[in-house]
Amino acid sequence: MTVTNWAGNITFSADEVHRPGSTDALRALIARSRQVRILGSGHSFNRIADIDPHVEGAALVSLAALPPCVDIDTAARTVRVAGGVRYAELARRLHAHGLALPNMASLPHISVAGSVATGTHGSGDANPPLSSQVRAVDLVTADGDSLALRRGDAGFDGAVVALGALGAVTSLTLDVTPAFEMTQHVFTGLPLAELDFAAVSAAAYSVSLFTDWRGPRFTQVWLKQLRGAPVGFPWAAPATEPAHPVPGMPASRCTPQLGAPGPWHERLPHFRAQFTPSNGDELQSEYLLPREHAAAALDALDAIRATIAPVLQVCEVRTVAADTQWLSPAHGRDTVAFHFTWSPDTAAVLPVVTAVEDALAPFAPRPHWGKVFAVSPSELHCRYPQLKDFAELAARLDPAGTFRNAFVRDVLGG
Ligand SMILES: Cc1cc2nc3c(=O)[nH]c(=O)nc-3n(C[C@H](O)[C@H](O)[C@H](O)COP(=O)(O)OP(=O)(O)OC[C@H]3O[C@@H](n4cnc5c(N)ncnc54)[C@H](O)[C@@H]3O)c2cc1C
Repeated sequence: MTVTNWAGNITFSADEVHRPGSTDALRALIARSRQVRILGSGHSFNRIADIDPHVEGAALVSLAALPPCVDIDTAARTVRVAGGVRYAELARRLHAHGLALPNMASLPHISVAGSVATGTHGSGDANPPLSSQVRAVDLVTADGDSLALRRGDAGFDGAVVALGALGAVTSLTLDVTPAFEMTQHVFTGLPLAELDFAAVSAAAYSVSLFTDWRGPRFTQVWLKQLRGAPVGFPWAAPATEPAHPVPGMPASRCTPQLGAPGPWHERLPHFRAQFTPSNGDELQSEYLLPREHAAAALDALDAIRATIAPVLQVCEVRTVAADTQWLSPAHGRDTVAFHFTWSPDTAAVLPVVTAVEDALAPFAPRPHWGKVFAVSPSELHCRYPQLKDFAELAARLDPAGTFRNAFVRDVLGG
């Protein structure tokens, strides 16, 4: 049987996905396997989740058949969520208890464990990546033993954005906040000329800027604002009907707009859980760089927009607050993220990915771990000052390299 990722651009090197139904069965599977990779919801666009080809006794494992525990502690404002649970289910359960996550990615379809493993983020000047919500990680390591790491423990900052390289994450404990309401407004036609990026990105709780790079302007600006907080955006015109950020896609697949107030989990993601997010027929890349370079990086991309536009569906620019996790793309720096939803044509897209990386190289961009990139391992070592610490942690917790595939070995290789 062929097993592919969500986008269909990766055929995994396994002809079956193991789905243990209990933690004991997971432990036994890991202990007897020569190589193990855990597959989340499969929304990454590269071989990060794959096993190596032709390794006898290698297992691609989904935790989706483990009990989907979501244990909420309202008094402590925490939730312990099992390794296979997706954000849509977590958000629904939290909201029913009057609780919320402070931020979400553009879609709720993705697993929590897989998302934080790759440094997945939403937007907002003051919102760090989703991995910052994690206060404890429970792992089954290569020998089948359990390991719990809590915020403040040695190595914890390497154990969340961990690329699946330390073990199977059986549960995560997250900080939560009281539930809140939001509005979502879309504005259209924001020129790049004389853009005050800092003012624009500070205009709401979460701001996303979209362009097709067919002109020096953003086609849409999405403002997600706390209910009751002012919504002012003097630089572009308010949309008069709901919009989808990808040209040609129906707005009915997106969360409500036009300022209608609603719960946090129906405004923070762009896409509704019941529908295919984004286009569905696509590749993605993303580069995260220090926020102070936002204007210069926009100019650099504008200079090659004739190269980008023919293979682009849409580009999204967001901000992310700095955090402390070693492999977080926002580690140690307030960040601006340049995301690209490409056409589903790998051969045509790869040269453009390289052109984008060349254009952004002066700003030391860090690629999103779950998307298409070509940045070399030696460059990654320059851009992640604590990659060496992560390599040491991986060697300590998994000396035989059971959880290290070719992707991870490349990253650690330097
Ligand atoms: C339409 C679309 C929109 C997206 N929007 C955003 C966005 O807004 N922001 C953003 O930052 N990214 C975004 N992404 C990227 C996405 O968030 C990441 O690729 C994320 O890793 C997907 O989670 P997953 O569960 O599918 O992980 P997978 O792709 O299944 O796995 C990713 C990594 O996590 C590891 N892993 C998964 N589960 C476990 C576990 N239980 N234990 C140990 N390791 C595990 C895997 O081994 C692998 O290394 C988007 C992707 C798509 C397809």
